Amino acid sequence: MAGTEPEDRKSHITEQPITLHNWHRHVNWVNTTLILIVPILSCVAALFTPLRIPTALWTVVYYFWTGLGITAGYHRLWSHRSYEAGLTLRIFLACVGGGAVQGSIQWWSSKHRAHHRWTDTVKDPYSVRKGLVYSHLMWMVLKQNPKERGRTDISDLNQDPVVVWQHRNYGFVVLTFGMLFPMFVAGLGWGDWKGGLVYSGILRFFFVQQATFCVNSLAHWLGEQPFDDRNSPRDHVITALVTLGEGYHNFHHEFPSDYRNAIEWWQYDPTKWSIWMWKQLGLAFNLKQFRANEIEKGRVQQLQKKVDQRRARLDWGVPLEQLPVVSWDDFVADAQSGKTLVAIAGVIHDVTDFIKEHPGGKALISSGIGKDATALFNGGVYNHSNAAHNLLSTMRVGVIRGGGEVEIWRRDRTKKQNLGTSL
Ligand SMILES: [Zn+2]
Ligand SMILES: [Zn+2]
Repeated sequence: MAGTEPEDRKSHITEQPITLHNWHRHVNWVNTTLILIVPILSCVAALFTPLRIPTALWTVVYYFWTGLGITAGYHRLWSHRSYEAGLTLRIFLACVGGGAVQGSIQWWSSKHRAHHRWTDTVKDPYSVRKGLVYSHLMWMVLKQNPKERGRTDISDLNQDPVVVWQHRNYGFVVLTFGMLFPMFVAGLGWGDWKGGLVYSGILRFFFVQQATFCVNSLAHWLGEQPFDDRNSPRDHVITALVTLGEGYHNFHHEFPSDYRNAIEWWQYDPTKWSIWMWKQLGLAFNLKQFRANEIEKGRVQQLQKKVDQRRARLDWGVPLEQLPVVSWDDFVADAQSGKTLVAIAGVIHDVTDFIKEHPGGKALISSGIGKDATALFNGGVYNHSNAAHNLLSTMRVGVIRGGGEVEIWRRDRTKKQNLGTSL
C-alpha cells in the first residue's frame, strides 16, 4: 500500500485518540479502498455473477502465480535476498506480485525488513504485540505514527531497475495485473469478462491479500517455537497451507536469508519448490541455505533452554555452597546426641523422616548414623538408583569440613608418615 500519510506540523493524527469526529482522519483511505472496500463490493457483485468452471480454474492458477509473486518475489527474493533471479523471472515476479495488490516491492520490502529488525517492538510495523487484528489488517487501515517508523536500508533494491520501474508505475501494474490481465484471459479465452474481473481479478487478490496477512498475524500467534522463543514467530502447518509455505515462521525469523521456510522434504513449502525448479530451468541461482549443523545448534539450544526451565522448577535440595560447613567431630557429636545424620560423599544428610520408609529397611540406615556411609550407599551393600541419589540430595543439611572421615584419616596418616620420615 502507498505510504500517503499527510503529516500535521503540530502533532500527527495518530497521537490523538480516535473519536466520532476524527476517525476518518485516522483511516488510510488508499489502503482501505484496496484491501477492504473494493473486495467487499466484489463479494456483493459475486452474488450476481455465475462462476463458470474455466474461470474457477483460471482463478486458482492465477491465485498461485500472484501468491508466488509475493512469497518467492517480494519476500524471499527482494526482502531477504535468499537467492538471485535473472531479468525474465524478476519481471514476471514484479508483475504477478503487483497483481496481488499489496503495495510496491520497495514499500513492501522496507516494511518487511523493519519487521525483522524490530520484531515485536513499537518500530515493528505489524507487531503482534499490538493485537492479532492489528498485525493482520489494522496496521494498513489506520495511519501509522511516523515517529514510530522503523527505518531500513533498501539501497540494494533501488539498484534493481525492475524494482524501480514497478514502484514508479505501481498504479499501472495494479490495474493491469490485479484486474485487467485476469479479466482479459477469461474474456478472450471463453467469453467470461465479468467473471474474470470479479473472481480471477478482485476476489482472487482479496484472498491472496488475506493469506499473506496471515503471515503477519497467524504465524506470530499459532504454533511451535523450535528455534527461539524470545520473540513471537511460530511454526505451524495450517499457516504454511494458507501462505504457500510461509508458515515455518520461527525458522524463518532465525534464518531469514535461507531460501527455504520448511527444511524437511515432507513439509509444505511450494514457494521453496518453485524457486528450486526455477534454478533447474536456469532462471534462478545462488540459492542460500544455512548449514544443517547451524540449524541443529539452534534447535538443541532451544531444547536445552526448555529442559533448564523444567529443571529449575524441581526441588534438587539446598545447593552445596549454601549448606553450613561442619567439622567431622561436631557431626559425630550431633549424631550421638540423637540426630539421625548420615555422611555420604562429604555431605551430611538428615534422614529422620525417611528412615522408616527406606526400601532397604531401617536397620541399614541406622548402621550408618554418625558415620561416613559413602561406601554403604554407593554399592557396599546396594548400588542405589539415580532416583535414590536425587531423593538423597533433598535431605542434605551440611557439608563436612575437609570432605569427611576418609579425608581426615588420610590426612592424619600423611602427617604421621611425614613425622616418621623427619625423625
Ligand atoms: Zn514475521
Ligand atoms: Zn521475512
